[in-house]
Amino acid sequence: MKKKLFITYFIIALVTMLAVGGTLFLKGYSSLVKQSEEGYMVQTQLLAAVFEADFPGEENLNQLVEKYAEEYNVRITIVSEAGNVVAESSGDYEDIENHSNRIEIKKALEGEKYSVRRYSKTLGVECMYCAAPLVTEEFRGVIRIAVPLEELKSMEYGFLKSVVLAVIAISAAILLLAVYFSNYITKPLDEVTNAARKIAKGDLQVKIYTRQKNQIGVFADAFNSMVEKLKNNMAVLYARNNELEAILYSMDNGVVAIDKDNKIIFCNQEFKSLTDRENDDVTGLPIYHVLRNQILYDVIDKVKETGDSITKEGNLYREEECIMKISGTPLYDLYEKKENKTVGVLLIFEDVTQIRKLEHMRSEFVSNVSHEFKTPLTSIRGFVDTLKNGAIHDEKFALKFLDIIDIETERLYNLIQDILLLSEIENNNDYNVKENNIKEIVGDVITLLHPKVKKNVDLKYEADAYIRPYTCNADRIKQLMINLIDNAIKYTENGTILVTCSSDGNFLYLSVQDTGKGIEKECLDRIFERFYRVDKSRSSKTGGTGLGLSIVKHIVEMYNGDIEVESEVLVGTKFLVKLPYQTVS
Ligand code: ADP
Repeated sequence: MKKKLFITYFIIALVTMLAVGGTLFLKGYSSLVKQSEEGYMVQTQLLAAVFEADFPGEENLNQLVEKYAEEYNVRITIVSEAGNVVAESSGDYEDIENHSNRIEIKKALEGEKYSVRRYSKTLGVECMYCAAPLVTEEFRGVIRIAVPLEELKSMEYGFLKSVVLAVIAISAAILLLAVYFSNYITKPLDEVTNAARKIAKGDLQVKIYTRQKNQIGVFADAFNSMVEKLKNNMAVLYARNNELEAILYSMDNGVVAIDKDNKIIFCNQEFKSLTDRENDDVTGLPIYHVLRNQILYDVIDKVKETGDSITKEGNLYREEECIMKISGTPLYDLYEKKENKTVGVLLIFEDVTQIRKLEHMRSEFVSNVSHEFKTPLTSIRGFVDTLKNGAIHDEKFALKFLDIIDIETERLYNLIQDILLLSEIENNNDYNVKENNIKEIVGDVITLLHPKVKKNVDLKYEADAYIRPYTCNADRIKQLMINLIDNAIKYTENGTILVTCSSDGNFLYLSVQDTGKGIEKECLDRIFERFYRVDKSRSSKTGGTGLGLSIVKHIVEMYNGDIEVESEVLVGTKFLVKLPYQTVS
């Protein structure tokens, strides 16, 4: 740009200079020639006047001619009326041919002054001749002076030299001016170009500084305010984008938007975590390359086909079982919404595994509870019917049946108690929370359960001398220990039951170890489940509800603790509870 402007400037100026210089030279030169011609003519006329005033006679004429020729540095020739040369300053006039046919002589003889340029045979160079009539009383002829044109030529050369020098000097000045002006004009444009480049690279701190008040100044001001606006708009867009990203990022659900060609427009991290490309940038990739799932494909196809929102649920094949609810909604072009023009599909992935598991557990719980109730109730009804049908009259049978009804009623009562307790713990209904002496609580439980211990079993209790008081609901810890010790008593026929209680400042440790029947390895993972019993017949004999350990686990979780179980069939079982000293949740 700058180069072009400079060249244009320079060419225009140079052409103008050459035209002006050429014209000046031609005009000047021709006026110079005219002036010198006129000068020589005036000189001729003056010499004619001098010769007329002081005519020395024809014989002495040559002397006078030579004198003036030397004085004025010209060639002087005097020609008679007949055309004969009567005096000549350069050479012998007698040898010179008749001049009557020379145009200047002819004209002068006719009484006119006349000048002409011609080659001089006498001088052997191009000359300018100026002739004027020379008329006295005794002589009638012509005086002519001849000047070699070389002198004029040297004048012409000198003039040309001055013109050329002037053109060169002015051209140099123009060159400098062209550089200055092209810089002056292009500098702000260069700045704008550089600024625009910086903006394109994302730098919005650029500004054009100019003191010019012309159009360039106006342009720079407009550019600066445009950049300012752009900066503000970008800041707003950036903030909005950040907000949107923050919202998408903090969503628990996977969100992905795809275009008409099923290519990902944007997605959040949660969506990426459902795929194998968690750490990749998946924008622009077809969704089928990122996540292969038939339900997803069905949702996309259905949304595109119907233009309605669609929700489907199914398994997503990952390492763990995962049930996904996939909702698809058509994405509309905001500007062409009237025409119902969709530009893609928005998909939301909701992990419903836990909800479905809970629902399953709930229904399983209901069916288990019904089953647990049904058995004792059936038994009670059966015996009541038997009594009604006559057995009541046989006291021995009647008492036996009433005993059974009593046991079953007790079982039902225990079951209801346990279910209520479980639901209370599950709902996190903890009350009466305060610092408790755990050593004492466990001691009380031992005292309470001691009568149930079989005669071949020794129930021992070992506790540290000092146990840091533990903040909790005393009833919960009591319940926990009752369930564990009661189980140990139930499932131990002989040997020892050792209950320990200790603390290390950070944790409270409670353990119940017995030398009972033990639990099979494959059952260890399930014993904390509700209504799970290792051996149904064994449990019904012992009157267990199958909820004891489930209650224990919930109490432990309530205090953010941990429970471990080690067991070997026919050797014994050990439950170890670890509770942290911290605020109850
Ligand atoms: P239950 O009321 O039937 O005892 P629990 O939830 O307390 O139910 O226990 C679940 C199952 O774990 C019991 O049915 C029993 O088979 C087994 N179990 C629990 N504690 C012991 C133990 N100390 N020794 C052997 N088996 C045990």
